[in-house]
Order: sequence, then C-alpha cells, then structure tokens
Amino acid sequence: MIFHSKRISQIPPYVFSSINKKKAELKKKGIDVIDLGIGDPDFSTPLHIVNKLKEELDNPANMKYPSYNGIPELRIAISEFYRRQYGVELDAETEVLILIGSKEGLAHLIPAMIDPGEVVLTPDPGYGVYRTAIQLANGVPFTMPLKKELDFKPELNAIPTTVLELAKLMLLNYPGNPTAATVDIAFFQKVVQFAKKYQIPVAHDFAYNMITFDNYEAPSILQAEGAKDIAVEFGSFSKTYNMTGWRIGYVVGNRSMIKALAVVKNNTDTGQFIPIQKAAAFALASEQSFISQNNAIYKERMMKVIELLNDIGIHAHVPRGSFFIWAEVPQGFTSFEFAETLLQEVGVVVTPGTAFGEGGEGYFRISLSVSIERLVEAGERLKSYYRTLSQ
Ligand SMILES: *Cc1c(COP(=O)(O)O)cnc(C)c1O
Repeated sequence: MIFHSKRISQIPPYVFSSINKKKAELKKKGIDVIDLGIGDPDFSTPLHIVNKLKEELDNPANMKYPSYNGIPELRIAISEFYRRQYGVELDAETEVLILIGSKEGLAHLIPAMIDPGEVVLTPDPGYGVYRTAIQLANGVPFTMPLKKELDFKPELNAIPTTVLELAKLMLLNYPGNPTAATVDIAFFQKVVQFAKKYQIPVAHDFAYNMITFDNYEAPSILQAEGAKDIAVEFGSFSKTYNMTGWRIGYVVGNRSMIKALAVVKNNTDTGQFIPIQKAAAFALASEQSFISQNNAIYKERMMKVIELLNDIGIHAHVPRGSFFIWAEVPQGFTSFEFAETLLQEVGVVVTPGTAFGEGGEGYFRISLSVSIERLVEAGERLKSYYRTLSQ
C-alpha cells in the first residue's frame, strides 16, 4: 500500500535522485567523483561563534522553550545589522521574526499568505522550495521566467492582468540561486511600486546578502521607498557564517505578513534552541572580517572556473554575488543530458538547470564551495573530454 495525500503525489520526484544514484555507483567502482553540485559552504563556522554556543550550553536557563518570536537579543542584533548595513530601521518587536533557517520561514509563509487555488508568482529558474511549498498549500505557482536578455530579472509587465488579480504573493531572490544574478536598488523600487499597484505582497529571499564580490553591495528590498508596506525579506546565517547545519534564519519587514507567518509557526514549531539563537546574535555583533576573506576565496575560485569554461568555449557571466556559476550548456545537449554526460564520462557532478524549473533549460550550475585544486582538476577532465569530442 502507498499512503499519502494527493498533495504529496504532486511533488515531482527529487531531480537529483538519478544523478545521486549514478554518483554512488561510480564511487563504488573506485572513481574519484568531483561534486560541483553542493550548495553548502566548505568553510567552517568561525571559532568564536562555536565557542559562544559552547558557553551558552552551560546555562540551564537556556534549556527552556524559547519565546515564540525569538530571543530579544537576536531580534535586536538583526535590527542593528539592518541599520548599520542598509540604513533601514526595524522594530525588533514586530518587524523581526526568528526562523529555524530561512527555508522553514519561506515554506511556512505560503500557507500564511494564500488560500487554496490562489496564485503565487515565483521565479523560474528558482530555489525548489518555492514551488513545492506552493503545491503543498494547494496554491497555484505562476512562473516568472528569468532570462539572460533581462539579466535574469522577471519581466513584471509581461504578467497577465488576470494572473495579477489572483496573485497573493510574489517571490524574489537576489543574489540569485541558481542564476547568480544580482540587482540594484532601482529594480526593487520598481518591484515595490508594481506590488503596491496590484496589492501583491512580496517576499525577498536574501540568503546570499553578504556573499558579494569586488565593490558590489547587494541591496535590501527594504531600502526601496515604502517597501515595509508590502514586503518582507528573509535572511539566513547559513551562507554568510557557514552555519548551514545550525538552522537559524530570520524574516524582517511588513508586520502584517510577519504576524501571519508567526501564526503558522506558533502552531507548528516552538522556535530554535536558545544557545543557537545566542550564538547567532553574537555572530552579528562580533567581528565580520572573515566574510570578506571567504568572499575573496570564492572570487578566486570563480575566476578560475570562468577561465577554464572559456577555454572550452562554454559561456558564463561573471557574478557579483552568490557562490554559483550559471553556465550555458553546449549545443547538442539538454541540461540533463549534459549533466549526465559529465558524470558518466569524467566523473564530475554539476546541477542541470532544469533542477530549478523549466526556465533552467540550457544551463547548468557549478557551486564554488569546492577547493581550487578540485575545481582545476574538474576543469582539466572537462578539457580532455572536449578534445576527444572534437577528434
Ligand atoms: C541556501 C538557501 C536558502 C536556505 O537557507 P537556510 O537558512 O539554511 O534555510 C534559502 N534560499 C536560497 C536561495 C538558498 O540558496
């Protein structure tokens, strides 16, 4: 017997499962597989943050249920970060909510915003959780294609008015996963004006806010005029502080949206362990120099990969943010065929663009959370494979 709801059968099978199976097979045969598919930093959590967690573990008062919206210390640290980094004022009481990772908050925001049959505007390609969370809430995803010609920004004016009338939420993500696209504040100004015109709340996923290169600083949507009237922004400790396994994030901005999300959460989870929240507050309030050091390493890897790809005629733009490269699949392959071929022929895992939606066709994603030696090795294998192709 198979036991599950109709909702579950709507969720497409995990796109990576066939690639993961193949990868396991090759490894069993003793092949040294290089995985460029992993979206998890290869750096450790800075020691001062780990030590803060250890210290907080010794306090018995920290073993209790946390307060529902998160400990005040962390909410205040986040509001101070927004003032310092973006010049945005937040009320730590009503405009900041602590999450068990931003993925948790993004997923729970959907049932907080929509009723069955209502539409959510979601980027394609985009982070997989958006679409599945919409489906689990019996909502209808309306995909906004992200195209190279528009620098992977959605064409808002192309969305039919009938869709806009049914839409109860718009999701955005810059610096973007998987496209590595970035925007300037002018884009968010436009989004906020558009959202207000059609009364569509906006949620901006800002997981890569601090992973930026050269002099680029990623803008917060809350810097746009009047954004707090209609938008929230999701932040995460995972990528900036190399804390993916800790499960700690936050959402800031529009009070009414945050209040609705809190209702879902208060009836689902009871917040994150207090010592983790204390360590996260400490992460924000202590020295940040390792962030630019990590970014310099990502940048060095990125330039190396772009060079290797260019050598074999694969085009990819140089990102200003995120730790991904979004590269074009060579002629003659679909995204999936290309990813399968690379794994089969040279033992290199890349993520096919279609793992992030139909709009990812024609692309593949490389993660820069791998050492430069391994990236170079992967590049060399690719080069020799290309040589055999052209013979
Ligand atoms: C990694 C990632 C997240 C999830 O972050 P957590 O805070 O670890 O849940 C959210 N959005 C995007 C686009 C990501 O890449």
